[in-house]
Amino acid sequence: MDRYASQLETLAHNGNLRRLPEMEPQGLYLVRDGVSMLNLSSNDYLGLADNVALKSEFLQTLNPQTCRFSSTSSRLLTGNYPAYTRLEKRLAQLYGAESALVFNSGYHANSGILPAVTNNRSLILADKLVHASIVDGIGLSKARCIRYRHNNYEQLERLVAENADQYERIFIVTESIFSMDGDESDLPRLVTLKRQYPQVYLYLDEAHAFGVRGELGLGCAEEQGVVGDIDFLVGTFGKAAASMGAFVICSETMKQYLVNTMRPLIFTTALPPVNLEWTLFIVNKICNMQKRREHLAQIGRRVREALNPLNGGIVSSSHIIPYVLGESERAVEVALRLQHEGFYLLPVRPPTVPRGTSRLRISLNAECSDSDIDRLITTLQHIQSSL
Ligand SMILES: *Cc1c(COP(=O)(O)O)cnc(C)c1O
Repeated sequence: MDRYASQLETLAHNGNLRRLPEMEPQGLYLVRDGVSMLNLSSNDYLGLADNVALKSEFLQTLNPQTCRFSSTSSRLLTGNYPAYTRLEKRLAQLYGAESALVFNSGYHANSGILPAVTNNRSLILADKLVHASIVDGIGLSKARCIRYRHNNYEQLERLVAENADQYERIFIVTESIFSMDGDESDLPRLVTLKRQYPQVYLYLDEAHAFGVRGELGLGCAEEQGVVGDIDFLVGTFGKAAASMGAFVICSETMKQYLVNTMRPLIFTTALPPVNLEWTLFIVNKICNMQKRREHLAQIGRRVREALNPLNGGIVSSSHIIPYVLGESERAVEVALRLQHEGFYLLPVRPPTVPRGTSRLRISLNAECSDSDIDRLITTLQHIQSSL
């Protein structure tokens, strides 16, 4: 027991102790100890998670005779309700792709796909900043893995060229919008690289872009016209789509291969049908939310203008905007000051981000008004000048 307790003490000493926060989200706000704060820490990018009109409209489609709150088994047994087929068909149609496969979460998708599709004759080349769920998938796979420096395509191109003859398959793994820096990968450049080598596959995690980017909200690959060149396009429903679950867009052969080999798909209870119905309902709404996406893009530009120059070379280009503060204690202190000013922001510390780059992570919500953003920027400038 001592070891566990002393490890917690060390974490606390370094300002890195994590706790489960007690709080209650209410629409765009969040209430803690009776105090209401603007919630800038959720991933509810389109502001749909607590939209009463959408919830009411959806609830009217439900009927106690037919609606199910649990699937009570794996998809391979009796959990594969028709709602799965409807959702997967719709996703494949939206992307203009052969197939889509839905998972319980992005964590399930990312921890399961790479181990299923790689072997000891595979090489994974992953961006240094990919999400922990991808890192865990790499850890479970039998492939060799090299992490390339964040968005460093010269290094990546060199690694592909050097290793092309030595592996049966090479998987380039990246995110489109990165979780912690809010910057983006260069998809056309990655596609150009992939096209030079028949054995190279592209794996793209669009968790932060699904719902937010592209005319239909399908993500950065849609926005940049490269959907057809991505071998594994992963999106999640727990963020902008205000639901739960994830999907991959891929070929029909790959879908059937995953159904037969991917452990986090096979050995887990399927999503509740009611959840799949809600996801499909929301996905159909999101296709038409260009106005929300435009507003989010516009407030993003304003906050980036204020913060990007302060971040020592970390340059966001999205609705996720870090405020890099360095040591964890400083990030904790600034987060508390902002909370006191009515903005619910949390410190992001190692091991989530590299040591010395502790930060606040502002994730904007399309429900934020221009005056919310005015006040946020004024408050940030005030705090920055006092540091
Ligand atoms: C949130 C996130 C995930 C995990 O998705 P969940 O559905 O929350 O499990 C995966 N990848 C990235 C980049 C994420 O930000």
